[in-house]
Amino acid sequence: MNVTTLPKPPRVGLVSLGCPKALVDSERIMTKLRADGYDMSPDYAGADVVLVNTCGFLDSAKEESLEAIGEAIAENGRVVVTGCMGKEADVIRARFPDVLAVTGPQQYEEVVAAVHEAAPPIASPFVDLVPEAGLKLTPRHYSYLKISEGCNHRCAFCIIPHLRGDLVSRRPDAVLREAEKLVAAGTRELLVISQDTSAYGVDVRHKAWPWKGGEVRAHMTDLARELGKLGGAPGEVWVRLHYVYPYPHVNDAIPLMAEGLVLPYLDIPFQHASPNVLRRMRRPANDAKVLERIRSWRALVPELAIRSTFVVGFPGETEEDFAYLLAWLEEAQLDRVGAFKFEPVAGAPATEMDQQVPEEVKQERFDLVMQLSARISAEKLARKVGSAIDVLIDAVDGETGGASGRSKADAPEIDGEVHLRDSGGLEPGMIVTARIEDADEHDLYGVPL
Ligand code: SF4
Repeated sequence: MNVTTLPKPPRVGLVSLGCPKALVDSERIMTKLRADGYDMSPDYAGADVVLVNTCGFLDSAKEESLEAIGEAIAENGRVVVTGCMGKEADVIRARFPDVLAVTGPQQYEEVVAAVHEAAPPIASPFVDLVPEAGLKLTPRHYSYLKISEGCNHRCAFCIIPHLRGDLVSRRPDAVLREAEKLVAAGTRELLVISQDTSAYGVDVRHKAWPWKGGEVRAHMTDLARELGKLGGAPGEVWVRLHYVYPYPHVNDAIPLMAEGLVLPYLDIPFQHASPNVLRRMRRPANDAKVLERIRSWRALVPELAIRSTFVVGFPGETEEDFAYLLAWLEEAQLDRVGAFKFEPVAGAPATEMDQQVPEEVKQERFDLVMQLSARISAEKLARKVGSAIDVLIDAVDGETGGASGRSKADAPEIDGEVHLRDSGGLEPGMIVTARIEDADEHDLYGVPL
C-alpha cells in the first residue's frame, strides 16, 4: 500500500505599504493564497516566501518601499515584490538582484503565480478546497471567499483537522467587508469556501456583529443573505455555496435561492451513500433521509443544481455498498459528480484500517461511477436545449468570435461550461442571457440573445 505524506502548508509573510487601493490588492492576493491552501506567517522567520506590496507614489514612498524590500531580503531572503513600485522593476532588480519576482499593481494573477513558484502549494483532492485546476490563476471576475478555517469533524480519511485544527470562523462583518471590496474590484461571482460551510459560526455560538445599521450573525444563512445583497439587485453578484453538509438548517438556504440572493447550487461532499461506509468514514450529517430532503429542496427550487464528490474503494466498501451507491446516484440525479479513488494518507485513521480495497477494484468502481454520472449529466443537460439561461462570461476568443462562460449550475474549474457562438462585444465578467442549442455530457452550446 502506498501511503501519501502531506507536508505542512507553505506560509506567506506580507508587508503591505501604501494607500487603501494597495491594501485591497493585498487582501485580494491573500484571499486567493488562503483559498489555495497557504497559511499566513506573522513574522519573517516563519515564512517560506515574503510578499512586499510596495507604493511608488512619491519619492519618499519609493524609498520606504526599497527599505522594506531590503529588510525582507535580509531577514528572510525569499522575496516577491508587487504593487506600484513594481513598475520600476529595473530599479528594484539593480538594488536587490536576489528578489524572486517583481510584478506591478493589480497584477494579481502574476503575483499569485510567483508565490506558487517560490513555495508550491500542496495539491491533494483530500485537502484542497479549490480544485487542482483552480490553482491556475483566478480571473478577477470571480473570487473565492474563505469564511472559516479548520474543522470539528474527524473523518477517517482526512487530515485537515490535524493540519489546520478545529473550526475557527471569521467574523461575518470581516467576511462581508472583504466581499464588498472584491465586488468593488470587479468580482461578479463569490465562491464561498471553508471545510464545512454549514458549520460556519458554531465555534462562536453564531454570535451577531453590527453590520450596516443592523446585525449579522455568524451563520451560513445570514451570511449568504447579506452576500446576496452586495450587488444591489439580487443576481447582480452570484453567490455560490461550496462544501455544504446537509445539516437541517441547510433547508433555510433554499428560500434564499428562490429569492435570487444565492445561486440555486449546492456543493455537498456526500463522499458515499452506503450507511456502512459512511459510518466507517465517520462522516458528519450522515442522514438516511437525505434523498427525501433533496426532493423537498427541488420542489421549492426546481432548477437547483447539486454537485458532489464521492470516494470509491474506501476500506471495507463491499460489492453491496458499492451497488447501494450506484442505486443512490441513480435516484438522486445529481447534476455534477466527481469521484476519487480512496488514497491512504499518512496520519489519517483510514490508512490503518483493515479490508483495504485492491487498486483494480477501486479503478473498476471509479469507472462505473464516472460512466453513470456522465450519463445522468448528459440527460439533464439535454433537457436544457431550447431554454434561455444566464451565462457569466469567463473568456472571449478574439479569433473565432466565440466566448465561453458558465451557467448558474456551473462552478469554475470543476463543472461544465457554456460555449457561445457569434458573441461579439462580450467581455469576461459580463452576465448575458443565451439560448441553448446543443449539449453533451458536460457542456452546453448556444448563442447570446
Ligand atoms: S468534514 Fe471531514 S473531510 Fe471535511 S475537513 Fe472535516 S474532517 Fe476533513
